Amino acid sequence: IESTCDMALSILRQALRDALTDLYNRRFFNEQMKKAVANVLRHEGRTMSLVMVDIDWFKKVNDIYGHQAGDKVLRELAEVLKNAVRKEDTAARYGGEEFTIILPGTEIERAGEVAERIRKTVEETRIALDGDKIIKVTVSLGMSMFVNEDLTSYRNEKEVERLIARADKALYDAKNAGRNR
Ligand code: GH3
Ligand code: MG
Ligand code: MG
Repeated sequence: IESTCDMALSILRQALRDALTDLYNRRFFNEQMKKAVANVLRHEGRTMSLVMVDIDWFKKVNDIYGHQAGDKVLRELAEVLKNAVRKEDTAARYGGEEFTIILPGTEIERAGEVAERIRKTVEETRIALDGDKIIKVTVSLGMSMFVNEDLTSYRNEKEVERLIARADKALYDAKNAGRNR
């Protein structure tokens, strides 16, 4: 019975996590986004922020050092993200080399501090590959914030998509402005 329970727990865990990085997966991220938005909508004045992270020139890492080196970079970045968030935040692998962090009850200024700390940590992280090779990567980040300013007029079911689209746009701007920002 014990091993059946362990197996069931392990399967449950796999359903919510990304196999490569052990971060939460996109499915869990989507669920947490809905919950976070619903929570903001419950009281006027509540806020939440979303951070999106994308590795710069990541295709080159794969092309030059190989796919396994790329995988190692993804795992290292996942560690940086895990260390950067609080218990109530959700760091997830959104897809490929893109990551998201949901920050409940957080204003954009603090989200910006979290993002900048991640950017700096990644910039300073030396990643050891097989054969004594050391590489470095940088990330670009974008953020968005949702504030419940007027409870009576705010009941937008599209808020999750809007938050993602706005953070993604900011990320795109960071890329165009030169990356690593
Ligand atoms: P940019 O600075 O504009 O973001 O450039 P980029 O090269 O990072 O972006 P692009 O979207 O062109 O390339 C993303 C690459 O990420 C391509 C794909 O092969 C790689 N990738 C996605 N998922 C994985 C994965 O699980 N492992 C590895 N090794 N590479 C992955
Ligand atoms: Mg990308
Ligand atoms: Mg990229």
